[in-house]
Amino acid sequence: MANGVWHTGYHLKIELTHADLGHPDRPGLFDEITLPIEQRDRELLQCLQHHGTGICQAEEEDRSPWMTIRRRIVDGVTTLVAAHLPVRNKPTADESDKHKALKERIARAAHRHGLSAQIEARSTDGKVRNDVLVSGSAGRVGWEAQYSPITASTVRRRSTAAADREIMPLWVTNDDRAALIDRAPWVRVDDWPWRDIASARTMLVRGGIRHLQDWACTPAAQRPCPLNGSSCGGLHVAWTLPALCLPPKPHTQVDALVAASAEGDYVPMKIPASTTPGPRHGYGHRQPTGTAGAPSSARTNHCPTPNPRRKQV
Ligand SMILES: [Zn+2]
Ligand SMILES: [Zn+2]
Repeated sequence: MANGVWHTGYHLKIELTHADLGHPDRPGLFDEITLPIEQRDRELLQCLQHHGTGICQAEEEDRSPWMTIRRRIVDGVTTLVAAHLPVRNKPTADESDKHKALKERIARAAHRHGLSAQIEARSTDGKVRNDVLVSGSAGRVGWEAQYSPITASTVRRRSTAAADREIMPLWVTNDDRAALIDRAPWVRVDDWPWRDIASARTMLVRGGIRHLQDWACTPAAQRPCPLNGSSCGGLHVAWTLPALCLPPKPHTQVDALVAASAEGDYVPMKIPASTTPGPRHGYGHRQPTGTAGAPSSARTNHCPTPNPRRKQV
């Protein structure tokens, strides 16, 4: 049983088993955290496990990483127990407006590039509905414009159902704490009002994209060898964050990604877990940029290869 929670305002751990909650300097803390949920920020208290590792088991059971504190009286002694709040699954009017604006923007971008795009596209068996289904030379991309909270299991279920029908899922979120991050191919955008999303203003991808970089591992290389820390004379490839590429890459534009993903320049990527639980997902730009040629023969643990379902260039 959880005996602590993370306070997202003060950035501290609250010890529920301690009479002073572990913070004798904060006498108001007890009243603050035991306020009814409607009277405080829903995201004030966070699951400790989620805070530490980014993932918690309760999220697989459709709970949110946000916590409520219940008072329990056993034999006249009051104890505090933390419990996960359910995921709020009804979109607000504001979220619905943003959702609609992004769907229309994606469809417009596809049409501009001469690709077909269908909003609220249903699969022939009726079991999958994508916010926008874009078709290009590399196949079909199922865009999900996710502005409202969603559970981890729903993300997994819908992504698997799409992939089973040869649709590459591509989730968009405006929230860097969304449950879809690293559970399915995703990108993150800024949180804009719907009018900006609907406008012609350039919308950039802020997270979720990596570029495939390859380099010859020589003493003159600008990067240390991932195997021995110096140089091994071999060839390495790695999915690299835009800012860490050599030279650094600019942010990808959402409108450009609409075409590039349908044409296979960007592919769903999955990086095996190393220190964090669960694999890391995102969208990878696979065009090699280094000097040493195509990386398709490199197959080592530190060099994740693109999703094998997709053919290599
Ligand atoms: Zn938890
Ligand atoms: Zn090396």
